[in-house]
Amino acid sequence: MTQDHQAKSRESVDQDQFLTILSREDAFLRFEAALFPRDVPSAPRKLADALGCALTEDVVAPIDVPPFDRSNVDGFAVRSSDLASASEASPVRLMLNDEVIACGVAPARPLLSGTATSIATGGPLPRGADAIVMVEHTNPSGPRAIEIRRAASPGQFVSYAGSDIARGEALLLAGTIVGSREIGICAACGIAQVAVARKPRVAVISTGDELVQPGEQLTPASIYDINGAIVTAAINENGGEAAFIGAVPDDEVLLEAAMRKALAQSDMLVVSGGTSKGAGDVSHRIIARIGKPGIIAHGVALKPGKPLCLAVCDGKPVIILPGFPTSAMFTFHDMIVPVLRRMAALPVRPDAKVVAKIPVRIASELGRTEFVMVSLVEGSDGLIAYPTGKGSGAITSFAQADGFLKVDALADQMPAGTEAEVTLFTPHVRVPDLVIIGSHCTGLDRVTVQLSRAGLSVRSIAVGSLGGLAAAKRGECDLAPIHLFDDKTETYNTPFLVHGLELVPGWRRMQGIVFRKGDARFEGLAAQEAVRAALADPTCIMVNRNRGAGTRILIDRLLGNARPDGYWNQPRSHNAVAAAIAQHRADWGMTIAPVARAAGLGFIPLAEEHYDFALVSARKQRPAVQAFLDALVSEQSRAALTQAGFRPA
Ligand code: AMP
Ligand code: MG
Repeated sequence: MTQDHQAKSRESVDQDQFLTILSREDAFLRFEAALFPRDVPSAPRKLADALGCALTEDVVAPIDVPPFDRSNVDGFAVRSSDLASASEASPVRLMLNDEVIACGVAPARPLLSGTATSIATGGPLPRGADAIVMVEHTNPSGPRAIEIRRAASPGQFVSYAGSDIARGEALLLAGTIVGSREIGICAACGIAQVAVARKPRVAVISTGDELVQPGEQLTPASIYDINGAIVTAAINENGGEAAFIGAVPDDEVLLEAAMRKALAQSDMLVVSGGTSKGAGDVSHRIIARIGKPGIIAHGVALKPGKPLCLAVCDGKPVIILPGFPTSAMFTFHDMIVPVLRRMAALPVRPDAKVVAKIPVRIASELGRTEFVMVSLVEGSDGLIAYPTGKGSGAITSFAQADGFLKVDALADQMPAGTEAEVTLFTPHVRVPDLVIIGSHCTGLDRVTVQLSRAGLSVRSIAVGSLGGLAAAKRGECDLAPIHLFDDKTETYNTPFLVHGLELVPGWRRMQGIVFRKGDARFEGLAAQEAVRAALADPTCIMVNRNRGAGTRILIDRLLGNARPDGYWNQPRSHNAVAAAIAQHRADWGMTIAPVARAAGLGFIPLAEEHYDFALVSARKQRPAVQAFLDALVSEQSRAALTQAGFRPA
């Protein structure tokens, strides 16, 4: 394809938009090459505002510190030669000068031989004095004299001018990041402002007709703008000064105007959304018109994050992040943070990466660098990185995740046990006190809240009952919440425990038929009757659950061989079932009572499910585990669980 052709196809929204997909490394190198080297603009900043900034000039001491010879103790300024013969047996008597040198008082009288002047810690030495005697080594001798029982060496208890910092000394070198110590050093020499790298001003724009700002009312089919808030914060965390412009509709004219204005006022522009192949996706088409050389990479072999668009417009980086929040964050931290920090003259953060072992094999697509969200827990020999991804649309995975790892484009998997480098979303890992891995239940938070209030950190990772059991067997968690029904014994959970695990009873969750209140097909019926009524009405649509869910087993038992309309709609959570019914996409389904109640739906109870904990016996004595076990049976938890619709065991 000729260059001309390539340019043309980039300008259109047609299918070959991603024909020139670059590898992650290639895209990043080209982006860097188009941006660096470049001058770092410098600006003076008041000391207090310089925290976290990089110095662009050396700081040279303008004065001596201390600025004068200064006493280090409370006592008397003397001439050491007067005290050569002083001892306990024959103290030397010195006449007191009519002066007391307090802090901040300049001495007025010279110190003559045979005299002493009272001086406080921090007081300037008077002319003629060369040593200080501590008050403890003296005795009053009448109102106008003292006796001294020890000899003094010249310079004793004196800090000489410039002994701490000498005028002209280079105190801090360019490139140093200003912290409280650096601020202290500057303050000591009276420096009120320093030259630091001006923080790059970064404009942030979200795009999408569906976006509503937090604080405003959601309309049908709209969602809250996540990227605007998260990108703005992440820019400020990494040395930039972010200005959030707002969310702009998918309108080429409006968006172009917003992007031009934002770019004119800033050093860098980060847009999110509108970069894929969708008909409404226009942001990338605007770039070619707003500055040269324009697009550097559009379509990078990343998963997720393929639609990432990297551009340079008249020297300024312009980035279009993928719309999905997790994709936006992976690509932001992996490719944009390094560029931003370099523009801010900040070094790579050494504390933003850790090495951790992965406990399970991670399958990966060949040919794309794959980002995998992970949660860190402490294993027996170092950190373990637990994959916690929920798909590129999920935001909660962030809350639980500490960072992400990358599976190389040339690998189709990362075997269990691999030591992987984890990029942290926020530097510094805090390993949690209690780790819970398994099936999630909203009731769990009612128990763990007590631990959180007591200052214990709790990490709960939702991987389902079977995943939790496996983690418990490997000793990677303290507790695995499970709700597994054993067909043979017709009992919950106990049959699934192996040596080294013990059962801690949790609570019961009532499963039942859920429907919109007032629906005459269901109101007042028992579960079996309600299902019969639903099957008898061909306009009635159900919502099912995924295979493997405990709830699905109950549904299939009720339905027998029937496959009513909606059977193939199989969401993976209790809440999705309630949402489908509340939004009239379905008329009935099965969920747990607390979820039905929270959604304001009608509920016909069917069977109780046991939500218990597999406890790793070897970890039972850990204080956080004991705290959890105490919290679980406390009156407070039981009341909270009951109130939320659960029945404590
Ligand atoms: P796009 O890249 O515009 O095609 O968006 C991909 C997906 O991400 C869509 O489901 C969008 O609704 C969603 N999305 C785009 N921008 C945002 C945003 N700022 N906050 C939350 N979700 C977004
Ligand atoms: Mg969009």
